Amino acid sequence: MNILVINCGSSSLKYQLIDMDGENAIAKGLVERIGIEGSRVKHETIGKEKQVIEEPMSDHRKALELVMGALVNPEYGAVKSLDEIGAVGHRVVHGGEDFSASVVIDEKVMKAIEKNIELAPLHNPPNIMGIEACQKLLPNIKQVAVFDTAFHQTMSPENYIYAIPYEYYEKHKIRRYGFHGTSHMYITNKTAEILNKNVEDINLITCHLGNGSSISAIKNGKSICTSMGLTPLEGLPMGTRSGNIDPAIVTFLMDKENLNTEEISNVLNKESGVFGISGVSSDFRDIEDAAADGNKRAQLALDIFEENVARFISAYMTEFKSIEDIDAIVFTAGLGENSPETREHIINKLSIFGLEIDENKNNVRGKETIVSSEESSSKVIVVPTDEELMIARDTLKLI
Ligand code: ADP
Repeated sequence: MNILVINCGSSSLKYQLIDMDGENAIAKGLVERIGIEGSRVKHETIGKEKQVIEEPMSDHRKALELVMGALVNPEYGAVKSLDEIGAVGHRVVHGGEDFSASVVIDEKVMKAIEKNIELAPLHNPPNIMGIEACQKLLPNIKQVAVFDTAFHQTMSPENYIYAIPYEYYEKHKIRRYGFHGTSHMYITNKTAEILNKNVEDINLITCHLGNGSSISAIKNGKSICTSMGLTPLEGLPMGTRSGNIDPAIVTFLMDKENLNTEEISNVLNKESGVFGISGVSSDFRDIEDAAADGNKRAQLALDIFEENVARFISAYMTEFKSIEDIDAIVFTAGLGENSPETREHIINKLSIFGLEIDENKNNVRGKETIVSSEESSSKVIVVPTDEELMIARDTLKLI
């Protein structure tokens, strides 16, 4: 069966059509600039020439119509008709406390996703638009919602309640939710497979380091703590997000720079992180290049990032009985999979725990590999993430 995986952003849409018999993507693409001048679909059916379809798209429905058109195109499409799509899996960012697993979408589910807009005002609305458009375009098949937050619903209150008046949790549901759950779950399952263990027995610290970054402690296959919070702004410094800062900086800056809530939110989400420190770029490749050319602030941005990753890993060690109790520290996502230097610097900072990288083995990019030395107290592993496949698997399981 083919499953269509949809990930809708405010002006973009990523999709993959996955043949679940061999778990292979048979087509994938990206729609950019939805509702903005210059909108286009970049489509690729695996084994055929890539296509760029430039056409005005006023909304997500129009975008999805073009995607469906591309999928069935006789020349560059992947299937003969839309009947060959068995179900659609949607990435939904915020499930709040309503969802601890993926669900088949019905009216009640839609209401709950709508209710959670207040927790993710930028993310849930485009997710809803994508679901509604697919319901209209493919009315006869099931749609499944897979939440970024669901995997972390196993955290206990001491790891999700903030030290602010408790009534704000009761009144506004302010608590840690965590994100990238689909990725942390995928690499948890995959690492269990690699280490030949039952997922219920696996203990890990999983590091999703990309443009957005988060770290989770996984005990017996379940997320028990994670670095992102009420929103994806908390935790590590990221491409453009500040991560943890003294909360007093918010009001201090609003006051000094005369910023309103939207403007301060912009500073912390879009102008901070390694971009804000380096002044160079939010892309780690550009920053690594600039640092190699002697740019001190670029080097500082990398140092701050690595220091914070090491600090989170060491903090999460306290969740386990001993270092030997941890099956592996796992690196994934753009930076975690592709930057041997970043992995090496982080693990070197953790030598107090007996962790040790093998420089030769670590010289890999985007490939499943154990990169720790034989002497290391716990394994260090690179595991490429595949959120789309995880969404497709959950979708297939539910239908
Ligand atoms: P997103 O959060 O957008 O899904 P990704 O997981 O794709 O992000 O990660 C993107 C980040 O990974 C970028 O900052 C990019 O620079 C970094 N990255 C990708 N390849 C490399 C590489 N070879 N070396 C260093 N960084 C890399």
